[in-house]
Amino acid sequence: MAENIPLKKSDSFLCNFVMEPLLVIDRAGKVIAFNKAFTEILGVEESSIKGRDFREIDALSSFWPSVQHCLNTCEDIKDRLRIGEIEYEVTIHPATSIDGQEILSLLFYDVSHYLTVEKELVKRNRELMVINTLSGAFISSYDIDRVFNDLLDKVLMITDFSVGWIMLTDNSSLILKSHAGVSLNLLKQLNEGKLDEFVWSILDAAEPLYIIEKDQMKNFHHLKKEGVVFLGAIPLKVSNSISGMLFLASRSERVFDFDLASMMALVGNQISLIVEKIRLFEETRRLSITDDLTGLYNVRFFYRSLESELARARRYQDAFCLVIFDIDDFKVINDTYGHQVGDEVLREVAEIILHSARKTDIVARYGGEEFVIILPRTSKTEALLLADRIRERVEENVFNKNNTVKIHITVSGGISGFPEDGKTAKDLLYTADMALYRAKGSGKKKVVCHSSETS
Ligand code: GH3
Ligand code: MG
Ligand code: MG
Repeated sequence: MAENIPLKKSDSFLCNFVMEPLLVIDRAGKVIAFNKAFTEILGVEESSIKGRDFREIDALSSFWPSVQHCLNTCEDIKDRLRIGEIEYEVTIHPATSIDGQEILSLLFYDVSHYLTVEKELVKRNRELMVINTLSGAFISSYDIDRVFNDLLDKVLMITDFSVGWIMLTDNSSLILKSHAGVSLNLLKQLNEGKLDEFVWSILDAAEPLYIIEKDQMKNFHHLKKEGVVFLGAIPLKVSNSISGMLFLASRSERVFDFDLASMMALVGNQISLIVEKIRLFEETRRLSITDDLTGLYNVRFFYRSLESELARARRYQDAFCLVIFDIDDFKVINDTYGHQVGDEVLREVAEIILHSARKTDIVARYGGEEFVIILPRTSKTEALLLADRIRERVEENVFNKNNTVKIHITVSGGISGFPEDGKTAKDLLYTADMALYRAKGSGKKKVVCHSSETS
């Protein structure tokens, strides 16, 4: 642009045709001309810069290397210069004046606004990347433990931390859901609950972000031993209450600035949302396999479990048993006391069976007033002992305790064993049912084991 302007050494008049701040210097750096806009950005009088050396003007001196670069290459150069609060993009343009002198024009273009937009875009972009990366963890897997591991790996990658773990609260206890980069020693401490007191203290503090830096680390010997010099604890909020903590730790120092704080908060929010989704997902899954009335497994889950127990027993040539219980004369209970009392009796029977069975047994509601138990690795003799104990407990129990009418009931049971009474789910159910039928036929209130001789 300056090439077309016939400048005279002492004349800045023509520069004023350019709106943007404009400065013209000679090869030695001496100010030849400038426009009014230029004096305005420097906030000085015209007289104080006229004829001066570029390097002596405070606001410009740091820009001299760029000017020199332009002198050496004789090409246009664009570079950034901050004057006060404003960031300029300066275009340096080599030219020849009307009297043949080699000159440089410097055009100042205010780019502050673009920088703010650019910064905002970079931030938004990073936020979207975080959200995108983290939500991908939930979609990619239905195995909850894997989801947490995957999630933590992604968090560490995004935040550039090397150590991290996620703890969730479960009533009054803390559960370590996943960990990465943690030494065996720290893992042991976490699993043994050695850090629980510390974790509870920050959970109770309910700060949006809890940071421990190097100078405070001496108070946290477990972490200090781990070589951790920076720790960030981010509360995970689900439905407005804190349901866990995400810990991000570093063995090298980290500068805790606004950017890191907002990144941690963003990651915390995203993980919280995912934890909420996981909880809902688990609840839905739990409901889909649960019988509404009794809280036992439903028949769908029972069939699935029976198939997997069969597969397991076949593979390991193991034995297992199936027990079917049916309440005796239950119709009479309903007819006499009403359906609601009947429901209460069903709930209590379910409880008795559940509390009598082992943790590894699968107890399900098979139908209306029928219950089934899968007893893994159990012989028929052992199954009969357990089934008889349940039968006795039901007989001894007083149902409908809270009301004036006390109810007593009895149950009958049938047992079949794998592999002797059937090699498929259908056969085992059939033979257990046959045994139950025999129990009913011989006066009820008893448990019968299927045997091939009597069937
Ligand atoms: P049996 O000794 O031969 O087993 O006689 P029973 O009366 O127990 O057997 P039956 O099959 O004739 O009747 C079962 C009853 O269970 C009838 C049905 O209304 C009742 N029942 C089924 N499901 C429910 C339920 O969810 N709640 C209540 N209250 N009753 C139920
Ligand atoms: Mg029945
Ligand atoms: Mg019945």
